[in-house]
Amino acid sequence: MFENLSERLGGVFDRLTKQGALSEEDVATALREVRVALLEADVSLPVARDFVKAVQEKATGQAVTKSVTPGQQVVKIVHDALIDVLKGEGEPGALKIDNPPAPILMVGLQGSGKTTTTAKLAKRLTDREGKRVLMASLDVNRPAAMEQLAILGTQIGVDTLPIVKGEDPVAIAKRAKTQAGLGGYDVYMLDTAGRLHIDQELIAQAAAVRDVANPRETLLVVDGLTGQDAVNVATEFDDKIGVSGVVLTRMDGDGRGGAALSMRAVTGKPIKFVGLGEKMDAIETFEPERIAGRILG
Ligand code: GDP
Repeated sequence: MFENLSERLGGVFDRLTKQGALSEEDVATALREVRVALLEADVSLPVARDFVKAVQEKATGQAVTKSVTPGQQVVKIVHDALIDVLKGEGEPGALKIDNPPAPILMVGLQGSGKTTTTAKLAKRLTDREGKRVLMASLDVNRPAAMEQLAILGTQIGVDTLPIVKGEDPVAIAKRAKTQAGLGGYDVYMLDTAGRLHIDQELIAQAAAVRDVANPRETLLVVDGLTGQDAVNVATEFDDKIGVSGVVLTRMDGDGRGGAALSMRAVTGKPIKFVGLGEKMDAIETFEPERIAGRILG
């Protein structure tokens, strides 16, 4: 197990309790521990470095409140700074789905949990907001992926666009739009093809679909356990396709959630949801407080 940051800092600051303010040297000592904690939580090195620097400037010279130890005070400063970075604009779980039928484009690499997340979100919109949702798979090269979405749809009671063999992704997107309009759906979700790596074809296809669908939301699904890779994937998808929000999956795993901090610091994109398991209701609104607590240990 990881050592709790508060405990670590408690030791560092024990000798300081009689001083009135946080000195530069003591803050620097404490922040070395913070940096280790961030790296252990899988935050990328440049992000950890920048973060520590910002906190250092904020903490140095700050008066130590009588009711807390200097260690606790630094933990609080670090915690608040983490929340600042993790928090995006707007409500984390809110999706722009006014003006029905609202298209939501789902993008991400194969295996990231894209299809599962599409179904989880569709279920959530149906159950919590009473929306009528239509899902369509655009992964024409992987019939099994198309089948998977249809099976999930049946399981959760959400409609999927019937599969027509030989249709290309743009044609499917157009059919989904027409069907969603005619059928009185509030939302239609387009589950684009995933590949193991980002390649030209994948991007060109997603861009073509984006151009016909004009999505209200483009949600990137990334595996939260992949750390820096998740951030690289997000940067590239955002550059090439444009992303309105991120869903971090596998946050039920052993990871400490550092990918969330790197994601926010590098891409600036809001993290809207986190995936917490394979079950259809294992998705939650992203909560900066919880992730901050997890990163600090
Ligand atoms: P896709 O290729 O991106 O569409 O990925 P899938 O949706 O098929 O998901 C790949 C695997 O990851 C499946 O076995 C899912 O059940 C699993 N999965 C998806 N999201 C999560 C999650 O948040 N936590 C866990 N533990 N597993 C997940």
